[in-house]
Amino acid sequence: MTLVLGDDSGLFDKGDWDTLRFYIKPSNIEVEDIEIVNSNNEVLRCWIKDSLNDPETHSLKVIVGYEGLKVGESTFYLKDKNSEARSCDITIKVEEKEEEVDNSRTVYVNYSGDKYHYSKSCAGKSAQETTLNKAKASYKEPCSNCVN
Ligand SMILES: [Zn+2]
Repeated sequence: MTLVLGDDSGLFDKGDWDTLRFYIKPSNIEVEDIEIVNSNNEVLRCWIKDSLNDPETHSLKVIVGYEGLKVGESTFYLKDKNSEARSCDITIKVEEKEEEVDNSRTVYVNYSGDKYHYSKSCAGKSAQETTLNKAKASYKEPCSNCVN
């Protein structure tokens, strides 16, 4: 039996989940014969999400779901219960998701205009509230009337 990994190891945000594809040959191996060995179940949850016999690659395609539960590192692999055959190790580092905090001041913009305003009335009736960082990121210029 050979196990071929479809994707790479990598970094992962806590609370997120994703899938990895494994191709197992020969294709007559039953998914019931496959088990996941996971080094740290508190950090990472792994489960067989789906499987199908793929006639194109003559292999059993196994979709493994994995979810980051807490910050840390875990290594898992797939193995055949009836033999020593196993996949390569997949190491996943789980990190705290970084929230982007935008503490810049509130400004007012018109989507069609190229200025940002501190004054809501100066910006006009159709003005939308946004932040200074976002306004600058979309290349808005300071209004000469109400900024400063
Ligand atoms: Zn203005």
